[in-house]
Amino acid sequence: MPAPPAEAAAPALSDVIAALDALWPPELAESWDAVGLVCGDPAAPVSRVLFAVDPVREVVDEAVRIGADLLVTHHPLYLRGTTTVAPVGPAGFKGRVVHDLIRNGIGLLVAHTNADRADPGVSDALAAALDLRVTGPLVPDPADPAGRRGLGRICEPLVPLTLAGFVEQAARGLPRTAAGLRIAGDPDTPVRTVAVCGGSGDSLFAEVRAAGADVFLTADLRHHPASEARQSGAPVLVDAAHWATEWPWCVQAAGQLDEISDRHGWALRTHVSGAVTDPWTAQAPSTHVPSSSGAPR
Ligand SMILES: [Zn+2]
Repeated sequence: MPAPPAEAAAPALSDVIAALDALWPPELAESWDAVGLVCGDPAAPVSRVLFAVDPVREVVDEAVRIGADLLVTHHPLYLRGTTTVAPVGPAGFKGRVVHDLIRNGIGLLVAHTNADRADPGVSDALAAALDLRVTGPLVPDPADPAGRRGLGRICEPLVPLTLAGFVEQAARGLPRTAAGLRIAGDPDTPVRTVAVCGGSGDSLFAEVRAAGADVFLTADLRHHPASEARQSGAPVLVDAAHWATEWPWCVQAAGQLDEISDRHGWALRTHVSGAVTDPWTAQAPSTHVPSSSGAPR
């Protein structure tokens, strides 16, 4: 009896990896990074793919629940190497992820800094979620003659905005997290140029200033770089949850794989995980107002 057409068209994991490697070439990854296939049989057929930011428990559970054959995550599972995948000890959750994936026949593929630098990349998806038009990379890749690849993106709003309006737009466009957005700057600041960087961007202040950005939206901004940037005036800062700045990439990536699947007649089913894997679960505004003491009368 002939197999149903969808199954007959199912590509091997190696075919899907080749297609995704063309979108996010592994050679674009930073030297310290760990991208590519973590587990999975390259010869196994793939019909369902789940995209997520983090290879964590709830995401693996979701992959099992929906019957995925491949999980594609932005963050690596093992970044620094390991000598064991035993599901015990402090990093035992990683071993558990490996065991659960293999037991359920699910491959894991990581596209991290290669997806950051690609065209389109993580920050293009972030810009789209923020309703911004991308004009170019924040840190261009010198090896890209088209000048589109690189870290972060320089963008323009589609309509004139103040910081308050931009923040409203960002709060609507980014997926909801407990941490939400932190803002540093005058709400009336006109916003003509926005620098965005999905993930931790506080090493990029020099480039943001050089680009003349009015606003820098990124994640994980630390006290000192943020304080120093504010002391020198521009840009104003919008600090979002790390997960929230990278999640839009999952939607973009699933759309890219859908197109590839249509082109090849693969009949793949793609899914984007809605699991909020930002580690912060609540926020409490502090109420104690400090007073200066010992001030002269
Ligand atoms: Zn990240």
